[in-house]
Amino acid sequence: MLITEETVLNPWEIAQKQFDRAAMYLDLTPGIRKILRNTTREYTVNFPVIMDDHSIEVFTGYRIHHNSARGPTKGGIRYHLGVTLDEVRALAMWMTWKCAVVNIPFGGAKGGVICNPKVMSEREIENLTRRFAAEISVLIGPDSDIPAPDVNTTPQIMGWIMDTYSMQVGHTEPAVVTGKPIDLGGSLGRNEATARGSVFTILEALKELNTPIDGLDVVVQGYGNAGYIAASLLETLGARVIAVNDSRGGIYNPGGLNTADVLRHKHETGSVRKYPNADSITNAELLALECDVLVPAALENQITGENADQIKATIIAEAANGPTTPEADDILADRGVMVLPDILCNAGGVTVSYFEWVQDLQHFFWSEKDVNEELRKVMVRSYHDVKKVADEKKVDMRRAAYILAIERVARAVTARGVYP
Ligand code: NAD
Repeated sequence: MLITEETVLNPWEIAQKQFDRAAMYLDLTPGIRKILRNTTREYTVNFPVIMDDHSIEVFTGYRIHHNSARGPTKGGIRYHLGVTLDEVRALAMWMTWKCAVVNIPFGGAKGGVICNPKVMSEREIENLTRRFAAEISVLIGPDSDIPAPDVNTTPQIMGWIMDTYSMQVGHTEPAVVTGKPIDLGGSLGRNEATARGSVFTILEALKELNTPIDGLDVVVQGYGNAGYIAASLLETLGARVIAVNDSRGGIYNPGGLNTADVLRHKHETGSVRKYPNADSITNAELLALECDVLVPAALENQITGENADQIKATIIAEAANGPTTPEADDILADRGVMVLPDILCNAGGVTVSYFEWVQDLQHFFWSEKDVNEELRKVMVRSYHDVKKVADEKKVDMRRAAYILAIERVARAVTARGVYP
């Protein structure tokens, strides 16, 4: 069988391909290209956890640094059975570009543990988290590498990481992790920040299309932190959320869903599936729905060469990381679909993580209004920075975001030089 991008869909190969597609617009030396195309540090741990029945399970986890030229590395930790070394590599590289797009002084990192937290008790998740935090404590720290939440990881999990690290260094160190509970030095607005940032970029894009948000039809894939909050903010702004789904299934109501009530149903039953007053819908059907804004907020490789020609949205706002493959990007660009790329669209999360880190280091905390307003400024400025490159180079928004980010990181790498 012919092996194509669409049969392999390896996130790391996709991330490197996205890099190559943008790097050709820049005058990078071969050496800088080699540095930026690779990760700098990859740490794999196989660690034991005592389960509730007193048995011992061994889990595998990763923490990967892509590039730290612009500052300490930053990136979430994911708990999922689908975690692989190549997925974490890609997510780490995307973090480098994302921090550069919004121009915050961080490099890129990511972590992941191969596990299914949905079948584990809270005690088992805490044991796993604390042991993983201890294992990666050689890498993390407020000046070196600062984790945050990602798929299936929560503020509570960040709190356990902060506590474990603090116990190891002998003093309380809130700035080692972001997305913490407010009681431990978390930032107001951090929980909503990823989705809020996506909404700011959607609003900027709509301004350019001269389209008010009121009455627009929105479809959201994934109903977790990023997806639910995006749906709820868009509903508040007057949009109609006509379909949402999660890993177990989806629901559709062309008249609009009540997003808070859908969340209540998900909390009660474990899924949005079987929500009353809505029809069941498959993932493939959801992606192909007629709508104005499609928000992928689940996992990678959802919009591919196989289904990109069925997408009917005007705007795809990538709250998720890596939801669209390069082959799909080409199809969507040909069809005039506007893609707000992940490294711009979901950068609100890391931006408010940066605010949280700054607040922790200064022991001085901001109001939620100030956090949201500073976030708005960063997202609006970054949207227009990317749009300017897109217009100048006559490329799509993803390529423009990459060009902007790679150029910023390349300048830092060049200015630092190669040690020794
Ligand atoms: P989450 O664990 O809170 O939610 C993930 C949701 O996706 C869940 O509802 C899950 O059921 C659903 N899902 C999983 N597989 C699915 C599938 N095949 N089809 C439909 N739904 C599916 O995670 P999150 O933090 O909301 O992260 C979602 C995406 O946003 C990820 O790509 C993540 O990397 C990205 N992201 C998150 C943050 C953040 O601050 N949390 C920041 C930037 C980017």
